[in-house]
Amino acid sequence: MKLALHWKIIIGMILGIIFGFIMNSVDGGRNFVSDWIAPFGKIFINLLKLIAVPLILASLIKGISDLKDISKIKKMGLRTILIYVGTTVVAIVIGLTIVNTIKPGTGMPQDTIEKIKMKYENDAGVSDKLMKASAQNDAGPLQALVDIFPSNIFTALGEAKMLQVIFFALFVGICLLLISEKKAKPLVDFFDSLNEVVMKMVDLIMLFAPYAVFALMANVIIAFDDTEILLKLLTYALCVVFGLALMIGFYLILIKVYTKKSPLWFLNKLSPAQLLAFSTSSSAATLPVTMERVEEHLGVDKEVAGFVLPVGATVNMDGTSLYQGIAAVFIMQVIWPEGLTFTNQLIIIATALLASIGSAAVPSAGMVMLVIVLESIGFPAELLPIGLALIFAVDRPLDMCRTVVNVTGDATVSMMVAKSLGKLHDNPKPKEWDDNYEA
Ligand code: ASP
Repeated sequence: MKLALHWKIIIGMILGIIFGFIMNSVDGGRNFVSDWIAPFGKIFINLLKLIAVPLILASLIKGISDLKDISKIKKMGLRTILIYVGTTVVAIVIGLTIVNTIKPGTGMPQDTIEKIKMKYENDAGVSDKLMKASAQNDAGPLQALVDIFPSNIFTALGEAKMLQVIFFALFVGICLLLISEKKAKPLVDFFDSLNEVVMKMVDLIMLFAPYAVFALMANVIIAFDDTEILLKLLTYALCVVFGLALMIGFYLILIKVYTKKSPLWFLNKLSPAQLLAFSTSSSAATLPVTMERVEEHLGVDKEVAGFVLPVGATVNMDGTSLYQGIAAVFIMQVIWPEGLTFTNQLIIIATALLASIGSAAVPSAGMVMLVIVLESIGFPAELLPIGLALIFAVDRPLDMCRTVVNVTGDATVSMMVAKSLGKLHDNPKPKEWDDNYEA
């Protein structure tokens, strides 16, 4: 019997978790995992990142040149950005509603706060995030805009600067439309062929996914050492998870109502990408798989997926913004209750929106940008390390969950934009080798 890919990945994950717990309790087990198991997860992530840039470049240039009409690009761009901003605002409002209703931070016992302070305040992880945040904040207000325009395309490609690569691909794609078809053809054919090759690479890399997630999950588990603190933060963590679940529900409603597709079918087809988002905590690393699922299994045309998904992976992070709303208010409830004004919460909506756009699609970027959200409401600088320390212990599992929402949000929006442009196909072409791994 052939198991569907997502089941194989789930089995890999569960075995990885069990293995991680066993190794946690064995002498030298943690070292064994980090020396001999974790590198296989790293190889997998490297392979995915390796193909992300050529994939964006090829599929976007090919997609745009297929559009044959520049006004369609404008339409697609405008719709994408509007829906992205709309869903992100919904996410933050959901987050703020939950945290203000449940109030997970109110009444936390002083000794728990002290314990967390002692354990994490001087932690290298916390200070590293504070440093990164202050580096981000030092740039001028328009820096994010300037950063979209590369001065050297090879640097942009080499450093995988997604927005710069997207800009370049759009530019090339549009110019291909503006020159004669005869002159454009060789380059279009080249990118078409490159796109096919990279898509095939995704397929092959995915055969390795169940083993890679085993390694990734085992590595996550060995990092947990203090279950007592984890339990103390349970209500806060559950608020975030509950909010994220509501957000997924919201996407499914959009899928049903707007694209008239079955939500279960959508989840079933997208699940390998969601599972990888969960195991890697990185929308950027997951991007090649998201693109493959959305184009080949959900029926979104290349030109839509090629634009909407890479842009989304970089700027649309609904899970991250929802988390930032909850985390900011939770921290205030614990150590700065006087800051909990209505105006501050409105400011959080605006800054969490910007911060999620500015967050890189890599693990724990959302926590770095949270510092900027807190600073925007005048959070006392001397309390910042304690604030981060408070949520640090549960950040990784929450990062895993919010990345799933980030990826699901991008896929949902790509379906909606495709539908609105008549580019959502009913019967995505099944791949000839699909049976190799799908029941
Ligand atoms: N890890 C998240 C992502 O890649 C970003 C974050 O919230 O930290 O989508």
